[in-house]
Amino acid sequence: MFNLTEDQEMIQKMVREFAEERIAPTVLERDDKHIFDREIVDELGQMGLTGLYFPEEYCGAGADYLSYILAVEELSKVDDGIGITLSASVSLCANPIFEFGSEEQKEKYLTKLASGESLGAFGLTEPGAGTDAAGQQTVAVLENDHYVINGSKIFITNGSEAEINVVFAITDKAKGTKGITAFIVEKGMEGFSFGKKEHKLGIHTSITTELIFQDVKVPVENRLGAEGEGFKIALKTLDGGRIGVAAQALGIAQAALDHAIKYSKERVQFGKPICKNQAIGFKLADMATKIEAARMLVYKAAVYKQEGKPYSKEAAMAKMFASDVAMEVTTEAIQIYGGYGYSEEYPVARLFRNAKITQIYEGTNEAQRIVISGALLR
Ligand SMILES: Cc1cc2nc3c(=O)[nH]c(=O)nc-3n(C[C@H](O)[C@H](O)[C@H](O)COP(=O)(O)OP(=O)(O)OC[C@H]3O[C@@H](n4cnc5c(N)ncnc54)[C@H](O)[C@@H]3O)c2cc1C
Repeated sequence: MFNLTEDQEMIQKMVREFAEERIAPTVLERDDKHIFDREIVDELGQMGLTGLYFPEEYCGAGADYLSYILAVEELSKVDDGIGITLSASVSLCANPIFEFGSEEQKEKYLTKLASGESLGAFGLTEPGAGTDAAGQQTVAVLENDHYVINGSKIFITNGSEAEINVVFAITDKAKGTKGITAFIVEKGMEGFSFGKKEHKLGIHTSITTELIFQDVKVPVENRLGAEGEGFKIALKTLDGGRIGVAAQALGIAQAALDHAIKYSKERVQFGKPICKNQAIGFKLADMATKIEAARMLVYKAAVYKQEGKPYSKEAAMAKMFASDVAMEVTTEAIQIYGGYGYSEEYPVARLFRNAKITQIYEGTNEAQRIVISGALLR
């Protein structure tokens, strides 16, 4: 069903080689010490990965959307913290500016994000507004030629590292979801600071921070879309972001399977490699089958987005299924490794810890079921 084009295969190979040669050698140390490596992230830009599917006029590479998803998958096989750093910047920050921004905003911000000169972030979640994203408390008040933003955002991927942020705030509380507006906020604007850096279960190579807004003056020209369009922009943006998270999950699952196959051929018990036991072979068969099914859903959602078809349901299915598969496959990979799988000296423990987040962010898998059932029952 999905024969990759020559260009897509070339990009896939280029990213695979980069991930294996440049990212793999330090991943265990960076994971262990919770290091966000800005040098590696900047190299993604130099390779053109930050602008893969954006037009060349905005410093993009003019490739297709599936190529970008393949890049996230390949990075995530080796270090999904780097995979989600790219995905958050591209899908959650550059993409809404591309789809909803004015020409001036695209020239000023999208070009920097696509070229990799700047990193992007997306600030929607607040302490009281998680799955219920409409429960925003951050406010933006219009005063002459600027808005004054006050409030805070938590759990923001790329947080303190991002130069450009797409942020949501209430401009008219009485209007509910139609009173939420999106803004582009730059690092360095007066009153914009960073709070707590999260100490997380996994994805230690990705940085997650609190954003704090204290009387931040944001020029009117930095409003993204019209007043009151913010909630729609957030939901549409998350539809695309979910395909990136699904690709992250796919990369994690594939890596866990690859490690488990190799280990099961090497580990000898009762005088033979453990893979010679049907119990282990069947586990590998189930893992591989589920991954292949997930891959079809992920690529299908990417192709739908690429072709301009509605893809909200497809993205939710891909994210929900691929992340559940990542959790199952990494659990089984640890089982195949036995006690060694439980040790951080072997790669599968890290993959297991990292898989969990894919069931949670950019909408929990319960939220995905709300999206899917809503589409079915419409
Ligand atoms: C590492 C990390 C990175 C993140 N990056 C970003 C980011 O870059 N930008 C950003 O804006 N946010 C980000 N988030 C936030 C993330 O998207 C939210 O954590 C997520 O949407 C869930 O919100 P919550 O944590 O408040 O959970 P809650 O909404 O409190 O949910 C708790 C539980 O209740 C369930 N639940 C809630 N409502 C319902 C319902 N109606 N029906 C059924 N079940 C329900 C949920 O599924 C979940 O199981 C990140 C989070 C983490 C941990």
